[in-house]
Amino acid sequence: MRPVTALPLLLLASLLCQAAPKPDLPALDKPQLKWVEKTAPKARDKFSKDVISLLKKHDDPALRELIARWFPECRKTTGEPTGTEIGLNAETGKAATALAKDWAALAAEARKAGMPSTAGWEALRALKLDDGNKQAAEILGYVERPKGKEFVPERAAKLYEAGKHHCERGWMARGPKPIIDEGEDPYDDEGDEAHAAWAKARELEYTFVSLRTNLPLAEACEIGQRVNALLECMRARYLLVEGYTEPAWPLKVWVLAKDAEYNQLWAERQEQPGSPFGEYSYLHRIAHVNAENCAQGFEKTVGIAQHESCHAFFHAAFPGQWDRGQATPYGWMMEAVPAAAYYIDPLNPQDGKLAEQLKRKFQKADGTRDEAVQSVLDGKDWLKELNGAASYDESIAHLQAYITGALFTAMAWQDDRLREAFARFTARCMAWKAEKGEFEKTLGDTPELTRQLKEWLK
Ligand SMILES: [Zn+2]
Repeated sequence: MRPVTALPLLLLASLLCQAAPKPDLPALDKPQLKWVEKTAPKARDKFSKDVISLLKKHDDPALRELIARWFPECRKTTGEPTGTEIGLNAETGKAATALAKDWAALAAEARKAGMPSTAGWEALRALKLDDGNKQAAEILGYVERPKGKEFVPERAAKLYEAGKHHCERGWMARGPKPIIDEGEDPYDDEGDEAHAAWAKARELEYTFVSLRTNLPLAEACEIGQRVNALLECMRARYLLVEGYTEPAWPLKVWVLAKDAEYNQLWAERQEQPGSPFGEYSYLHRIAHVNAENCAQGFEKTVGIAQHESCHAFFHAAFPGQWDRGQATPYGWMMEAVPAAAYYIDPLNPQDGKLAEQLKRKFQKADGTRDEAVQSVLDGKDWLKELNGAASYDESIAHLQAYITGALFTAMAWQDDRLREAFARFTARCMAWKAEKGEFEKTLGDTPELTRQLKEWLK
């Protein structure tokens, strides 16, 4: 063949190479695209208009608070959540029921379109508007409460059936007794002093978590309720995702009040905790927290309890082999969702205003921001760096496993195009199944995702 004909052939070959289009990632099929581009925007538009007119009609602080907490996208209308107690009256209750009906229908459409994580999450939000919404309950696998109209998790229904009573202390054998003498406890609790040592720790039982702690009762109740609420959210985001196994609820969390008690516990087991703040033990299947070492204060204790419980959730929901995991390159992804879970609070159940909180947390005295967060805001491609780590341990050794991981999680939770691929991929990572290169194949190239993250953080 003469060289002159080789040239057009080469040209043709290079043109063919260019012509093969790169797949659009994360990949969405037709029904998913329709949900993302048509169904959801239309439903959200109607929802936000309904909220505006509803709040004009009924200026009920409870309704405003309910929407502000669970639908942060409406905060231009509702304002920020304030902590007002949510108890709707007959009229606003009816209004919330109507909103829930539309939202549950959107969740059902997402399920039909093959968007399991979206469906679970939106169903939970619909159920928060109206706990009697059958369509949302069905998606979440909740059942009717015995002798009641609302839908509750299966375990809660069984506990009601067994005659148990639910309060802020969790599930109790009976309701509170009438108080005659001042200082008496309605549940005959002997007081914080009696439970101050780890050997005398209280055991509080909630629907999704059983908490053992020797912290004062008020703190114990707050940790128990917040971890329980977090686990309800995590379950909603993952229960329909491929590979999900329903955990044997409740998961176990131990919060030890004293540093010495924490260290003694591990010494007795002849084991080393991975962190002085807390550790989820894959061996014992218990999330541990060292409260005294959480020197930044009670919020840190709650945050660590939420973080470690999140590990417990994934280990139970997507079981996998730790030894297989030694080879998995995505240690940072296994920390990403628990890192985001750290910041979830009762007023911000969706993502805990994580970006704002991280910016504040890493603000230095001189007004500049710690490089760890600033570089993410500046658009440094940490995702590429983390994915390039040679091993699981190497990728979690870096603070960015937590910072970039948490921010990327929060962005993915709010992005219709990313949410499903992210949920699928985290589930594979948590089960130690993800292969090297799978991140890019599932979610797309890191420079583009980093660009999106920078934009989202503005
Ligand atoms: Zn962790």
